[in-house]
Amino acid sequence: MRLLLINPKFPESFWSFKWVNSAIMPDKKATNPPLGLATLAALCPSDWEIEIVDENIESIPLDPSADIIGICGMGVQFKRQSELLTFYRMKGFFVVAGGSYASLCPEFYETLADSVISGEAEYIWKEFCRDFEMGKPKKLYHETATVSMSDSPVPRFDLLKLESYRSVSLQFSRGCPFRCEFCDIIVMFGRKPRTKSPEQVGRELDLLRKLHVHSAFFVDDNLIGNKPCAKELLKFLRDYQQKHKYPMHFGTEASLNMAQDNELLTLFSEANFKWVFIGIESPDEESLKETKKFQNTREDILTSVRKIYSYGIDIYAGFIIGFDNDTTKTFESQYQFIMKSGIQAAMIGLLTAMPKTPLYERLEKEGRLIPKPNYGDNSKLDTNVMPKQMGYEEMIAGYKQLHHRLLSNRSIAGRIKNKTRYLRTLTNNGEYSLARGLKLLRNFIIHGLLSGRMPRLFHFFRTIPLFKPGLIPLVIQDWIIGLSMKDYVERHFTQEFEKANQLAHGYLRVIENAFHRYLKGGSLELSLNQAKNTAANLSIKLKGVKERKFFKRAGKYLEKILENTASSITLNIEELHESNLKHLNRLLKRISQYGDRVYITVNEKLKDIIEIDSSKFNLVLIK
Ligand code: SF4
Repeated sequence: MRLLLINPKFPESFWSFKWVNSAIMPDKKATNPPLGLATLAALCPSDWEIEIVDENIESIPLDPSADIIGICGMGVQFKRQSELLTFYRMKGFFVVAGGSYASLCPEFYETLADSVISGEAEYIWKEFCRDFEMGKPKKLYHETATVSMSDSPVPRFDLLKLESYRSVSLQFSRGCPFRCEFCDIIVMFGRKPRTKSPEQVGRELDLLRKLHVHSAFFVDDNLIGNKPCAKELLKFLRDYQQKHKYPMHFGTEASLNMAQDNELLTLFSEANFKWVFIGIESPDEESLKETKKFQNTREDILTSVRKIYSYGIDIYAGFIIGFDNDTTKTFESQYQFIMKSGIQAAMIGLLTAMPKTPLYERLEKEGRLIPKPNYGDNSKLDTNVMPKQMGYEEMIAGYKQLHHRLLSNRSIAGRIKNKTRYLRTLTNNGEYSLARGLKLLRNFIIHGLLSGRMPRLFHFFRTIPLFKPGLIPLVIQDWIIGLSMKDYVERHFTQEFEKANQLAHGYLRVIENAFHRYLKGGSLELSLNQAKNTAANLSIKLKGVKERKFFKRAGKYLEKILENTASSITLNIEELHESNLKHLNRLLKRISQYGDRVYITVNEKLKDIIEIDSSKFNLVLIK
């Protein structure tokens, strides 16, 4: 049996850290590999042939050799997951949908997939494999029982192209004891945390060591959901690190109450956890109580943050705007808190109601859900929640401004200074070899520092911790995080469409003049489409242009449009002479860094000669 597992491309968000991948670490293409697919692969019968394709680092195959195609997805991936399911199903493949969104809302997949795997896969995926081999796969496999984590196998990390990721994911526990109103995790995994044994985790680490992994991310939603078990794991990890001479460093997600347990903090530090992601959400106690995040109200949050720093553990954090208690004053209080806390990776999202959460149900009753497709990406200028004490547009404007304020050179530097004052120098670093460290430093100086000219250099130099030189790598890392988020905000949150679209119209006129001959002869069609308050889309239809020089000049113009405006481009390749293939590829290479704004459709008859890398461009599969 041949099984192809696909992780669809994520839409870009803060989490993509696109600037890091393009400017600082060009050898890395994404942050983390698809752990769920590697786990699924390990649950298959041993004689199955399995391939994992992650569209975030590589192109999807259009004509794969497979008997089954399994496509996973979180809420943010739903659009692309649906496209892929439909595309492969129309081609006659047996398609299976799974992942966290199919677990939460299996009904959304009824018409999209032949089988749906809803819930934790350990038992139901094995059942599906048996049924499929017998020729009787069911439409829906819904896990209703409690899966024991001891039945979770060592993931097939060997099937992942680990060298393309900045860090590798593994999992210790599922479930969280808290009951935050907006959280879909507890809807899916329950409130009683279940854990693997430390020895089980040890077997996974052994494999990762063999695969030369140096950075691992425990993707648990709350690693300390069951504190006694978490401590047992941390003691095991501490001993494991000592025994193997600190082969890797870790990061994870945990709740803020970790700050109130000194033993836990010591163990995190000794086990070489360099950072932890914490859902802080809001500095306002009333907002926290409203959302039932009581664990964040037990102690002053700044005190907790600084205590965690004092153990040499860095903090990444999530913040939310749009609670009922929030007003326009919230933007200022969030700004002040984030600055004082020194948290550079401050992932601020708009409150979003995921289906089946208590928040969704409450807002539905109150008639405050905005009926729009919502796929759970809360880092966009969009949400399905109508705020209570401010207007929707007012909230969006304040949200944008908050990001612009936080991501100025001065604010990035201010946060670093506020962090290094409290952060203990980290030990057991060793993430990069000297050669690699120097290469990254060079890229940072060229693309990060010098590109920001004197003002950035000035702010950078004032963040160098002269009395704690051991923190210099962290300072550079925080600049990289800040600049990457700044890059995202500048490209996605600047909506001066009118000006940008006027520019796009200007470019269109230049292109029309330059390619007048092709337009007249019918081998080229051009149009600029624009709806109110959106970026323009330049549509290009190639219908057999023959001259090589066309591709060279077109590449130059398209690059300029993408670089200087927010416009997107739709490239419809209707006809192409084979001799022009290499010229087309050169054109595509030239604009590939803007590939997320380029949509490409290829005529069916050209599909065998033209290969479009769907990890770089938006390859339109279904018109
Ligand atoms: S602490 Fe995190 S995982 Fe736990 S309920 Fe709250 S949001 Fe969900």
